[in-house]
Amino acid sequence: MDIILVVNAGSSSLKFEVLSVEGDLSKLLKGQMEGVGTAPRLCIKGIGGEILADHQHSPSEVPDLPAAMRLVGDWLRERHDGRLVAVGHRVVHGGPDNERAVLINEKVFADLERYVPLAPLHQPNNLAPIRAILRQRPDLPQVACFDTSFHRCHSAVADHYAIPERFYAEGVRRYGFHGLSYEYVASRLSELAPEIAGGRVLVAHLGSGASMCALLAGRSVESTFGFTALDGLPMSTRCGQIDPGVILYLLDQKGMRPDEVQDLLYKASGLKGLSGVGSDVRALLESPKSSAAFALEHFVHRIGLNAGMLAAALGGMDAFVFTAGIGENSPEMRKRIAVKLEWLGAKLDLERNARGDVLISTPDSQLRIYVVPTDEELMIARHTLATIGT
Ligand code: ADP
Repeated sequence: MDIILVVNAGSSSLKFEVLSVEGDLSKLLKGQMEGVGTAPRLCIKGIGGEILADHQHSPSEVPDLPAAMRLVGDWLRERHDGRLVAVGHRVVHGGPDNERAVLINEKVFADLERYVPLAPLHQPNNLAPIRAILRQRPDLPQVACFDTSFHRCHSAVADHYAIPERFYAEGVRRYGFHGLSYEYVASRLSELAPEIAGGRVLVAHLGSGASMCALLAGRSVESTFGFTALDGLPMSTRCGQIDPGVILYLLDQKGMRPDEVQDLLYKASGLKGLSGVGSDVRALLESPKSSAAFALEHFVHRIGLNAGMLAAALGGMDAFVFTAGIGENSPEMRKRIAVKLEWLGAKLDLERNARGDVLISTPDSQLRIYVVPTDEELMIARHTLATIGT
């Protein structure tokens, strides 16, 4: 059986899925090496949830992502009888020119390394397993699938900041991220509700990273993310949109170093920073602390404001789609957000919402509201297959 490996590498974890390419793409297993460099643990599950592997490793065995990648490769070779035909990687940044997934070679790899300064926290981790496989298996096709590609069709007006043009030329643009998720949701919506998918749709990807994307006939026209995945909505630990004057204040008046500001905005802000309780929406919903309730109120408020902004970009709105961890799993958060959409004609059906139906608005709601689970890994596998097939 021919298989594709999908890899999503973060700062201390390497998540992966294996899909069969016989007929339609179908998932065979998923796994994760977590605690890379500190307390490495490889956990692999079959598609029915059965545990196929659960091993602790020493930090010296798995000091970094390349070592994690090698170990996963070894496990697959020894324990899986599929024939690996390609590896698809999630790569956060494709720069200004990569409008679709690309087959990796040394030249492409060097090009992707140029975008490390644009995504310093993500891009190096995404590239590390690619480099490891290039060294070990240079014959194996590898495909980079970008979070930015889906938004590259934005108009120049949407893509610009109002700073001198030379910065745009060197790459300071409103790239937008979560593109693999939005592309999957757009394709799923065209199956679930074709009459809606051709219209004006706002998708809210609400996970630990959170953003929204305005889709016109299935294509992205605007998004809340910008130059980095720090912009837009407040997130689990990231601040979201902030007046650049605050950054100047932190640097000039508080004497903070740039790396300290980076840590503050990426890791200590958002729901975590506001609540002082934690970053997980489940914990905040259960917390008796008023700061937890306030953080959620702020999150919902910002979603409402940004929905208005994106509705303007679309010239009105036919449907609103919830996806990712919070959007897919929390009827309570969906309910609070739907209240902010009432001026757009939204009427939530409370029973459908509680059940987590696909369509959760009432039959007479002017704005249709959907829950569409995302599947970035499947999108990567599709791109990988299409790219090696051409
Ligand atoms: P990512 O892939 O960006 O890490 P996910 O899309 O998996 O994130 O979303 C993770 C977040 O989803 C968690 O931080 C948690 O706040 C939220 N979440 C997951 N399940 C629930 C739930 N049942 N109720 C509320 N929030 C949830």
